[in-house]
Amino acid sequence: MEGCSKFCSFCVVPNTRGLEVSRPPEQILNEIEKLADRGVREINLLGQNVNAYSYKDKLKEYRISNIIAELEKFPELTRIRYTTSHPRDMTEELMKAHRDIEKLQPYLHLPVQSGSDKILKEMNRNYSSQEYIDIIDKTREYKQDIAISGDFIVGFPGETDDDFEATLDIVKRVKYAHAYSFKYSPRPGTPAALKDHQIDEEIKSERLKILQDLIRQQTRDFNSSFFEKEINVLIEKHGLGVNRLTGRSSYLQSVHMDGDPSFIGEIVKAKIIKTRDNSLEGIIL
Ligand code: SF4
Repeated sequence: MEGCSKFCSFCVVPNTRGLEVSRPPEQILNEIEKLADRGVREINLLGQNVNAYSYKDKLKEYRISNIIAELEKFPELTRIRYTTSHPRDMTEELMKAHRDIEKLQPYLHLPVQSGSDKILKEMNRNYSSQEYIDIIDKTREYKQDIAISGDFIVGFPGETDDDFEATLDIVKRVKYAHAYSFKYSPRPGTPAALKDHQIDEEIKSERLKILQDLIRQQTRDFNSSFFEKEINVLIEKHGLGVNRLTGRSSYLQSVHMDGDPSFIGEIVKAKIIKTRDNSLEGIIL
């Protein structure tokens, strides 16, 4: 699907890409069937706001959870992912899909942007920090080991120290496997660019550093928890060096290892022998 109908006050996407448009399910499934026949093992369903996917025909409305359920039936496919999602569109069916659909990978990218309800309102995100936490908790009830990633903006106009503390609090509460964070920068033509109380660059930089240090620690802790674990890795490509391979865990971590290039495109079982801030080192079992 393309476009977005959310109109966050800092974002140009609805104006540049247009409103949400969902492709017909048959079109998506046919395309994926052809890819799977050609050896594709992992599918990532994409959209600016992919969990808003909605296509109605005479009989029913198809949501992303229906598409995922159909993909589960393709024998050649082994991994299904989707990104990016909006908390407002996180349906119970999609959360349950993480429990019920084995091929759906245990990873959810769910941007919160800020932990402050005041700032979330100013951003026009249409959820509160508590609603976001409830979604994460509920999804974890269905899929205990799901890795959560997020997006954050620091220094949105009017963000006080207390608002920023609320962002740190939500990060501490959720414990992210991974997250992207940025300083707010005004986009011409967006409502936020016209707001009073734009934040000083120096303050934005300080806050970004504090936030990124916290997130880096959480990613490190997440990766460390894999030490000596045996996990499935989809080998994607050659690594750096002779007979080095690079792949992805189910939780989207990069995994590096020695191995024959013939493994590329296969899922192998690997034992993790070293963990780093941004990757894992494994041996193929
Ligand atoms: Fe849509 Fe995401 Fe932009 Fe908000 S930030 S308007 S949800 S694309």
